[in-house]
Amino acid sequence: MIVLVLNCGSSSLKYQLVNMDNEEVMAKGLVERIGMEDAVFTHKWNGQKKEVTQSIPDHKVAVQLLLNALTDKECGVIASMDAIDAIGHRVVHGGEEFAASTLITDEVMKALERCSDMAPLHNPPNIIGINACKAIMPNVPQVAVFDTAFHQTMPAKAYMYGLPYELYKENGIRRYGFHGTSHRYVAGQVAKVMGKPVEELRIINCHLGNGSSLAAIKNGKCVDTTMGFTPLAGVLMGTRCGDLDPAIVLNVMDKKGLSTSEMDTLMNKKSGVLGISGVSSDFRDLGAAAAEGNERAQLALDMFHYQVRKFIGAFAAAMGGVDVITFTAGVGENGIEDRAAICDGLEYLGAKLCPERNNVRGKDALISTDDSTVKMYVIPTNEEIMIARDTKEIVAE
Ligand code: ADP
Repeated sequence: MIVLVLNCGSSSLKYQLVNMDNEEVMAKGLVERIGMEDAVFTHKWNGQKKEVTQSIPDHKVAVQLLLNALTDKECGVIASMDAIDAIGHRVVHGGEEFAASTLITDEVMKALERCSDMAPLHNPPNIIGINACKAIMPNVPQVAVFDTAFHQTMPAKAYMYGLPYELYKENGIRRYGFHGTSHRYVAGQVAKVMGKPVEELRIINCHLGNGSSLAAIKNGKCVDTTMGFTPLAGVLMGTRCGDLDPAIVLNVMDKKGLSTSEMDTLMNKKSGVLGISGVSSDFRDLGAAAAEGNERAQLALDMFHYQVRKFIGAFAAAMGGVDVITFTAGVGENGIEDRAAICDGLEYLGAKLCPERNNVRGKDALISTDDSTVKMYVIPTNEEIMIARDTKEIVAE
């Protein structure tokens, strides 16, 4: 079975074509700056790469373009569009309606529209991508895989906020959590690497990238996570502020005369390690600046490492202990010094990092010492393969 995996953002679209007989990635690529005259289309196949700059007015044109590339004489990997058996879409918000991936029907589309209220930046482009595929390939089954679904197993005591209960009932105000597909992949993969059933492990997964979240995964089920009603909550991130005293929002809006959308921009785009350092949202830049003596860059890094460590402690408490801590995504997979700084002080928990083993990037690897009772691993995330696997399973039903 051949599955096309699509991740549609507001102005971008990422794709992978996966042969599910052996989980081989046949081709992948990216369309950026959709809606612009100088949109960029990058297609990679068989170790080769092609980049084209052209006008791409909308997502439908982008989908058609990638289908043309996939079936092209020169850079194609399939003879025709008919070779695509199913399409799997990343959808950011499934609300409380979706606790698992689902086949897309007219009814599901209506539910996705309802969830858009809660993810106004993310869900609409996901829906546009689904409609574009429907228009071009009406007979190919499509599956939605949600960032929020994995977290639907959280108990109410973990997902409720201390606000009037009606706000939950009437407005859906609760913790949803995000990066669920990544957390689910890493939990399954680390269990596989350890040769243990995921149902017998208490895992804390640290997904640390531009956006960061931790998840407490007990016996294969998420019991708590750091992101909340939106992906703004939890640890401070590249440009997002993370957890705040909610009264700060009112105070700053009042004192600075900011509108809700200006405050939203401040918290989502101008905060986090960028806002603290004034240098960059990229952890490599921060490391370099800190090494040259930039104190605010060092402060941003210290805050990030401290907050991740603090949540590890909180999630160990939430699960009555922890068996394995995993690191994934850009910083988690590559930030050797970041991992060392986060783990410095976790020894009381029985988690001892091995400096030699920690000297690793981007592959499944044990990084704790032999006498560490809590095992620690780097596990590169692979959200695309989870989407492809779910799609295959649902379509085969
Ligand atoms: P996204 O959330 O956009 O998917 P990624 O998971 O790709 O983000 O993570 C991007 C982050 O990973 C950037 O801040 C980048 O600095 C960081 N990163 C990449 N390589 C390294 C490295 N070698 N050391 C530290 N951080 C790194």
